[in-house]
Amino acid sequence: MQRKKVAILGAGITGLSFAYYLSKYHPNIEFVILEESDRAGGVVFSEKKEECVFEWGPRGVRPKGKGQVVLELVEELGLWEALVFADDKAKKRYLYHDGKLQVLPHSLRSFLFSPYLKLFLKAFYKDIRAVKHDEDETIANFVDRHFGVELRNLFFDSMVSGIWAGDVEKMSVSATLPLLKKLERKKGSVIKALSSHKAMSVGSKQYSKDITSKALFSFKDGLQTIVEALKEHLQAHIEYDVKLDRIDFSEQVEIVVNGESRFVDELISTIPAHKLSVYVKSDLSTLLNSIHYSPVAVLNLKLLKSELDFDGFGFLVPSKENSVVLGMVANSNTFPQHAKGNWMVNTVMMGGARYTVEELRCLDLKEKSKAFLEQVFGKAFTIESEELKMIDKAIPQYELGHLDKVRQIEVLSPKNLTVLGNYMYGVSLIDIVLKSKELAKNLIR
Ligand SMILES: Cc1cc2nc3c(=O)[nH]c(=O)nc-3n(C[C@H](O)[C@H](O)[C@H](O)COP(=O)(O)OP(=O)(O)OC[C@H]3O[C@@H](n4cnc5c(N)ncnc54)[C@H](O)[C@@H]3O)c2cc1C
Repeated sequence: MQRKKVAILGAGITGLSFAYYLSKYHPNIEFVILEESDRAGGVVFSEKKEECVFEWGPRGVRPKGKGQVVLELVEELGLWEALVFADDKAKKRYLYHDGKLQVLPHSLRSFLFSPYLKLFLKAFYKDIRAVKHDEDETIANFVDRHFGVELRNLFFDSMVSGIWAGDVEKMSVSATLPLLKKLERKKGSVIKALSSHKAMSVGSKQYSKDITSKALFSFKDGLQTIVEALKEHLQAHIEYDVKLDRIDFSEQVEIVVNGESRFVDELISTIPAHKLSVYVKSDLSTLLNSIHYSPVAVLNLKLLKSELDFDGFGFLVPSKENSVVLGMVANSNTFPQHAKGNWMVNTVMMGGARYTVEELRCLDLKEKSKAFLEQVFGKAFTIESEELKMIDKAIPQYELGHLDKVRQIEVLSPKNLTVLGNYMYGVSLIDIVLKSKELAKNLIR
């Protein structure tokens, strides 16, 4: 019998983790990973800068709940010794609004003494009287019905712009925050349902509370470590600098790469939606192109610890502040291993759904962010080094109707094409690894 042949487009974390599980569960399948650029990892990119680590993409993974699937992968790859867990300081997160940094409640005590206590109590009271609404809706609508506009404008707006670079008034609650909708379906009230909610088991190894109680994990040299290990494991299968000319789907898939035809039984795409749209028929192509991405500018700053008196994970900025800054992550407060000696590294994220790439390019982002930090901390400080990168299409936006789009993409895809990537089943590394594992395991139909 002939061995089944598979091609995977893209060597970002989706392509690499899919390939890893494919080789684990189906060692007889022959596969190749075709990568357009000269490196693996895609958005995951950590750079060592003398005594510091600059993260340009993701910077941490939650070890709790579904995150255990990534921990298990870390263990299988022999990376346990390189792991670092977030300092307890990382539990302290701030919001910047009305001219000051306010700490968000992170324990019962901080909740009871929080300046937001009255606002939370009002929101609880509203939520326990909320009624079910079956249809999908924007995050803004959902939050307004359950918790009120004030809570939306302060917390949900800044969380959605800080994590997804998104807009609460456009994003789908069912696609972006499915747990909220699930809880609503159970009891109407999110809070009532939460009290009896049990986290979904992901069928992976369960780690001890010492590990899962940490806010995040990464590696001594940043998240790139997992990419390097996957790359090493899969090196015989990865081709770089690939120029994809054309793809034809019939009984087999013909992929024309650098002018040469290759034939495979299955194609797995993990490249961004707009990139795949070029190679598929018009109905699927239109659908893929309708998925918008937000631009994000990432500024990494290295400075002396003595310059900045700040103790938490970072802060978020609600859009009512009208700043291009979405928030700042104090990386080396979270992972002290990422800045040796007296240094600290902070990342400022800018842009998001309220800006186009062109608008961002017209702004002096370095100056704007430094002026903003001076305003937040009430002083100017000396920066040892700074680097800015613009990610034009950083994060796919799960807008209203997104889940219908995903279902339609599945229906319209040729039978020998599997569409994966962060615009399908979740943006986080956890969702990506989980879905890649599930689909690779079940590839043989
Ligand atoms: C600034 C930022 C911060 C983030 N922070 C976090 C975080 O803290 N935690 C978290 O869980 N997630 C975070 N995310 C999200 C997460 O990092 C991404 O969703 C994830 O890395 C995307 O992986 P991917 O493999 O799907 O896509 P990509 O990383 O985009 O990889 C796609 C790959 O396909 C290649 N490619 C493109 N076109 C072609 C083609 N035609 N042929 C062949 N190859 C092609 C690309 O070169 C690339 O290597 C962050 C994202 C950003 C942008």
